[in-house]
Amino acid sequence: MSRLVMKFGGTSVATPDRIRRAAKRVAREVANGHEVIVIVSAMAGKTNELVGWVNEISPFYDAREYDAVVSSGEAVTAGLMALTLQEMEIPARSWQGWQVPLLTNGAHSAARIEEIPTAYLDERFAQGMKVAVVAGFQGVSPEGRITTLGRGGSDTTAVAFAAAFDAVRCDIYTDVDGVYTTDPRITSKARKLDRIAFEEMLELASLGAKVLQTRSVELAMRFGVKVRVLSSFGDYDETAGTLVCAEDEIVESNVVNGVAYSREEAKMTLLGVEDRPGIAAAIFGPLSEAGVNVDMIVQNIAERGKTDMTFSCPVDEVGRARKALEGSRDSGDIGYAELLADTEVAKVSVVGIGMRSHAGVAARMFEALKDENVNIKVITTSEIKISVLIDRKYMELAVQSLHDAFGLETAGSN
Ligand code: ASP
Ligand code: MG
Repeated sequence: MSRLVMKFGGTSVATPDRIRRAAKRVAREVANGHEVIVIVSAMAGKTNELVGWVNEISPFYDAREYDAVVSSGEAVTAGLMALTLQEMEIPARSWQGWQVPLLTNGAHSAARIEEIPTAYLDERFAQGMKVAVVAGFQGVSPEGRITTLGRGGSDTTAVAFAAAFDAVRCDIYTDVDGVYTTDPRITSKARKLDRIAFEEMLELASLGAKVLQTRSVELAMRFGVKVRVLSSFGDYDETAGTLVCAEDEIVESNVVNGVAYSREEAKMTLLGVEDRPGIAAAIFGPLSEAGVNVDMIVQNIAERGKTDMTFSCPVDEVGRARKALEGSRDSGDIGYAELLADTEVAKVSVVGIGMRSHAGVAARMFEALKDENVNIKVITTSEIKISVLIDRKYMELAVQSLHDAFGLETAGSN
């Protein structure tokens, strides 16, 4: 029997009616001969509400209790989904993470999956169960306490189950009909991709495309799990959505396949830093300990033993970064003349596996930005991505002009 994982996001299970609609899709896959593992999110808005309550009661909360509270949203939808399937006369049962069990480490609120033993559910399927409904986002720590996998973690639950149970595919039902070349809210020319490579999806997800949790894409790539992203509202057919898969399963690919952005960035610069061995470690070590997610880093050429160091980080981490750097200066670990923060920047990136074998992408990107008079503040590149930091007020314009410059509106154009 082939196994299929179907994951339903918050909007797809927002009301009893929508749960019924989702259950109909499950029923169709059961009729197609699959044994199905359904992973559910909390109803739309529920997790935010639960997080809000935690913060209201205890701003510096105990993460174990945070997990106890926020995991409850998924517990509700899992039971409701199982009941709905039973009403449709489909043999279904629900499980919470700890019951399966989905074993994680002890990093509460951002736990990592360590193992999903399959014997128990395998046996239930062998006894005639057709659908196992599992609460997404949650697992159990070595101490036996409930953990959660970080916001958006149900995607990761779904991919992990697909890998553990050797599923033919992991279908992620959401409120968009697939992965787009860029955010359709920024340009109506954005085009849905039929397929996208794991590596590209990983870049897009980590650059802020919210359709899949980044960790779920990492897992899918590591275990070769085919992931299909599709809408639970549109008409269904076998080719619906976007398939996230290995590069060699994509026949024709563009050099650039996506333009991503991240709006809430900040650029911090340390002026007059000593140029000596160990200075980067002395700056970035404490930043990482303070939980600052440093992204781009640029160090200038030194002059008379002094240099400037610039880095970017999420705008809401500027306060923490400043505190960490001032702390390092006060304790004499680093010296600098001035600390500048520009909190009005955004990051725009072009992504494509074709860049590995094609030159000239950077030049084309910079040309397009020049034509719009957009000034570039910082540049970084990887094998399949080029990112620039620009003034936030030009972000939409930059995304639109790059989408045009690389002809992303039509397939096979660059
Ligand atoms: N309900 C959780 C969240 O909103 C997990 C998920 O839906 O993926 O983050
Ligand atoms: Mg999500």
